[in-house]
Amino acid sequence: MLAIHNLYKQFGNLIAVNDLSLTVNKGKTVVLMGPSGCGKSTTIRAINRLVEPDRGSIILNGANILSMQPDELRDIRKRIGFVFQHFNLIGRLTTAENVMLGLVMSGMDKELARAKAVEALDKVGLEQHLGHKPSELSGGQQQRVGIARALAYEPELMLWDEPTASLDPILVREVLIVMEELARYRASTMLVVTHELPFALRVADEIVLMDQGSIVEVGAPAQVFVKPVSDIGKKYKELIE
Ligand code: ATP
Ligand code: MG
Repeated sequence: MLAIHNLYKQFGNLIAVNDLSLTVNKGKTVVLMGPSGCGKSTTIRAINRLVEPDRGSIILNGANILSMQPDELRDIRKRIGFVFQHFNLIGRLTTAENVMLGLVMSGMDKELARAKAVEALDKVGLEQHLGHKPSELSGGQQQRVGIARALAYEPELMLWDEPTASLDPILVREVLIVMEELARYRASTMLVVTHELPFALRVADEIVLMDQGSIVEVGAPAQVFVKPVSDIGKKYKELIE
């Protein structure tokens, strides 16, 4: 359903993503890993054009995102859920309002938006916190509001860029549980950048390892972390042992 072909992005002289090709099939969870600076965020951000690549194609359900005009792009972004490291919630709005905001802005009737928000917040276990402000929530709860905000659109594809990186270890767990539930029981299609090895081992259908802008290894977790062929894969294997 998502097919990236020969994606290339250069910042000045630095080649951040070097002819990268990658497929995520419907209902699958692909985990993208690799050392800091290897191009993971650039790749994932190119998918909804937060980064404009120099060349390549990104096909989502038959349409090339890289050749879309602004109005088509606006529509496709509604079908892609994006969760970052930082939650970017609006402080003066409640949990429910934060989730509703984007839906209402995109023209949805307020009552329907509220119903969708409540449903999404229920999925991430925040049904008791609809009226709370972000300052009254823990970091893990705030990140789950961010996840609900993405889920409320019923996205075809969920993109995650280190969603647990700014959380303490206990809160990391609660966010990973929500992600695992989405991957396993709701069969969402997900591309996940994370350094959480146990999560990747348990949940990924496929691991993609990157180094210096290129993919160096692809395979099932049992293969990549047990019998790695790349240097990066071998380093991850050592970390697990
Ligand atoms: P991390 O694990 O630290 O998040 P990453 O794999 O996500 O790393 P990217 O953020 O994709 O790495 O960055 C890839 C390379 O491109 C890095 O060398 C980075 O410094 C560079 N880079 C990323 N964004 C920009 C930018 N807007 N301008 C200039 N260089 C950039
Ligand atoms: Mg990154």
